[in-house]
Amino acid sequence: MFASLLIIGAGPAGLAAALAAAHHAKSVVIIDENAEAGGQIWRHDSQQVHSPAAQLKAKLLTYPHVQFVFGARVIAMVEQCCLLIETSEGAQQLRWEKLILCNGARELLLPFPGWTLPGVTGAGGLQAMIKSGADVKGKRVVIAGTGPLLLSVAASVKKAQGHIVAIVEQRSAKELLGFSRQLFSAHRSKFWQALGLISIINPLRYRHSAVVTAAHGDRQLHAVTLVQAGKQEEISCDLLACGFGLRANVELAELLQCQVQDGLVVVDAQQRTSRENIWAAGEITGIGGVEKALIEGRIAGLSATNDVVTAVDALHREDAYSFATLLNQTFSVDTSLRKLCKPDTLVCRCEDVAAQDLAPFTDWRTAKLMTRAGMGACQGRICGAACQFLYEWDTPEARQPVFPAKAASLALLAEKKFSFEK
Ligand SMILES: Cc1cc2nc3c(=O)[nH]c(=O)nc-3n(C[C@H](O)[C@H](O)[C@H](O)COP(=O)(O)OP(=O)(O)OC[C@H]3O[C@@H](n4cnc5c(N)ncnc54)[C@H](O)[C@@H]3O)c2cc1C
Repeated sequence: MFASLLIIGAGPAGLAAALAAAHHAKSVVIIDENAEAGGQIWRHDSQQVHSPAAQLKAKLLTYPHVQFVFGARVIAMVEQCCLLIETSEGAQQLRWEKLILCNGARELLLPFPGWTLPGVTGAGGLQAMIKSGADVKGKRVVIAGTGPLLLSVAASVKKAQGHIVAIVEQRSAKELLGFSRQLFSAHRSKFWQALGLISIINPLRYRHSAVVTAAHGDRQLHAVTLVQAGKQEEISCDLLACGFGLRANVELAELLQCQVQDGLVVVDAQQRTSRENIWAAGEITGIGGVEKALIEGRIAGLSATNDVVTAVDALHREDAYSFATLLNQTFSVDTSLRKLCKPDTLVCRCEDVAAQDLAPFTDWRTAKLMTRAGMGACQGRICGAACQFLYEWDTPEARQPVFPAKAASLALLAEKKFSFEK
């Protein structure tokens, strides 16, 4: 397969990039591992005609030279300007002339006693499960961590008739008030959006300055320990959804040798990466929400097709950046959470490696070689980020394949005489 413009990710950034580029590009291919367009925020919305995802997709499909490829995961780089994608039917090569990376982000999951119990998920993870049809009706749900995503997840739980027992926010009332004030003065529509979400929750269920320190259960979660202002209590629940923020999916950008700094792809004002003919947009350049993803996607699409990025576009981008900065400053994960991980707490759940097994090591690479941490199905995507937070180790280097792959896909890569080791 060949694309004059290849876009990886059909989330808000990828869709906006495709739409901005559709006029001028010879052929546009948008690839996503999901079965539909929409990314994380609009997951499953694309079936509803009036949803933003459905409308963007419909507009794009009016261009005969725009093509979506769903259920396809980019797993490796075969050579310069050629990627390997895997679908249920097997692997194939995808050549490109210009590339826009819109890979989005994933949740940061932090280890604490009981975090691997069935019933404990990421906050966005629970939301995604609900959107995919998981039944939470009547289930007692605790939502914990930090940031506005907790409220958004609470709204999804409520809509699905789950029973919200507590929303446990790590930040203090003072910090939350400061955040609300700044939202009101600089990002009014976000303020009303947040107020709309808060209004559906019983205020008594919202706990600030609070942390879930342990999840309890034998084979299934049945309770959590919550600490608020030094006071400890146990709360019965069926589900615990923990959200400690997002981490950008930069592995592919790293393989393509784009500059990555502090876990984010570095871009200029036109969304160009450090590599020629590669642009990046959305969460992979900085965690900042849907508006940032949309405007960056648009700018990347315009820039990749030599179209004009206007002053209005630049202004929108500045506004989105100011919101992103406010968000990231207010809801950064408190390092005191490191203490939640006890010596016998599993850090790498794929390979059963506990914190005490990692204790003798001072870097990720040695720890990985000696304990197998990061060598399981998640390929270090979860425990690598956790170790970075817990021990301040450098981020694990991206290796091919970036996702676990079928033997046949690996064989195809090997045929191309490509070394799996970087
Ligand atoms: C779990 C989760 C839940 C969220 N929930 C909310 C919410 O409720 N409200 C809110 O305002 N914001 C939410 N966010 C944040 C929101 O997703 C972003 O602000 C916005 O969607 C960013 O758009 P994006 O296009 O940059 O990335 P995304 O929407 O994440 O889109 C990236 C797309 O790239 C695809 N992709 C990545 N790598 C590959 C690959 N190698 N091969 C093929 N496809 C690939 C993914 O499948 C995905 O569809 C959530 C984020 C996460 C991670």
